[in-house]
Amino acid sequence: MSFLDDLVRPELADVRPYLPTQGDFRIRLDANEAPSLFPSALRERLARAFSELSLERYPDARSAELRRAIARRLDVEPDELLLGVGSDELLALLMTALVKPRRASEAPIVLTTSPTFVMYKMSARLRGLRVIEVPLDAEWDLAEESMLRALEVGPPHLVFIASPNNPTGTVMDPGRLERVIQAASRSLVVVDEAYVDYADRHRLDLFRGYENVAVLRTLSKVGFASLRLGWLVGRPELVRELDKVRLPYNSSGVSQALGALVVGELWDEVLSVIQTVKSERARLAEALGRLSGVSVSPAQANFLWVRTPGSAEGIFRALAERGILLRSFHQTGGRLAQQLRITVGSPAENDELVRVWRELA
Ligand code: PMP
Repeated sequence: MSFLDDLVRPELADVRPYLPTQGDFRIRLDANEAPSLFPSALRERLARAFSELSLERYPDARSAELRRAIARRLDVEPDELLLGVGSDELLALLMTALVKPRRASEAPIVLTTSPTFVMYKMSARLRGLRVIEVPLDAEWDLAEESMLRALEVGPPHLVFIASPNNPTGTVMDPGRLERVIQAASRSLVVVDEAYVDYADRHRLDLFRGYENVAVLRTLSKVGFASLRLGWLVGRPELVRELDKVRLPYNSSGVSQALGALVVGELWDEVLSVIQTVKSERARLAEALGRLSGVSVSPAQANFLWVRTPGSAEGIFRALAERGILLRSFHQTGGRLAQQLRITVGSPAENDELVRVWRELA
């Protein structure tokens, strides 16, 4: 027995650190980032803000200016916002603060859907929480009856629903979502809107209508993944509790200063990139849909959910060998065996993907 065996939490035994696919790819369409389309004037504006920072000082511990800027953008109050190092950190905060033991010897439950964003499960398992996954229905929407049953059995402490969902790109039916929230009276329902800037509707209203709802947002999908900046929108009493488990200075001075510019002065430029990605999404979906045997789900995010003829593995590997990285779900098997998730890239990247795929077909 090694020295560490006596120290490390048993939950870590079958966990691997999170690592995106390594390698040299000329086109990466695997991580749902935005393509680099910002004009140099925007980069220069950010560089000027960076040069004015006092790097030797700690940043504002309350991120007051950034929270005010986000609050203005969303029409909420600053005390309804909690900032995180990406929304990933907010998942961790939720799972640290809202897991009061209810019955001795029973781990708190985290309920989510399947397939969905993997970090809900990973974060929960690391903390010794029990994870229940309810499969989405045939249209990749909430399976209402099964969700309601799962809520009765638990009841869970936390429910995570991504809408638009990753990797399926679907926005959850508003009526089903609301009925799940109403039934989850002993849970906080976290509606993760990481991709909402690419959708035709949002549900920020839910946190005002229901005390058991919080909404997650992020800058990662609209061109600023590198800043690591996400936020939770919730009732002030929830934000106050979560704020107690947040690390001091979790938002760096760089993230605060540049983030405030992005959601304020520069937002119109961000909207213009979002618009380009949305029209590229339609163009790419059309082009891929014309390939033999390929079908593309309706998309409300900055990626496409694509069904391949036969296992997705063949086309995934063939494209990777030619320097184009997508995300494949063949290893998951079942109804995901033929599914690829393809981030919408720049016009040139999308053209190249279609050209190379056509050659292979
Ligand atoms: N939620 C969903 C649904 C996501 O897909 C992702 C990123 N893959 C995140 C949250 C995490 O984003 P962030 O970069 O803000 O941590």
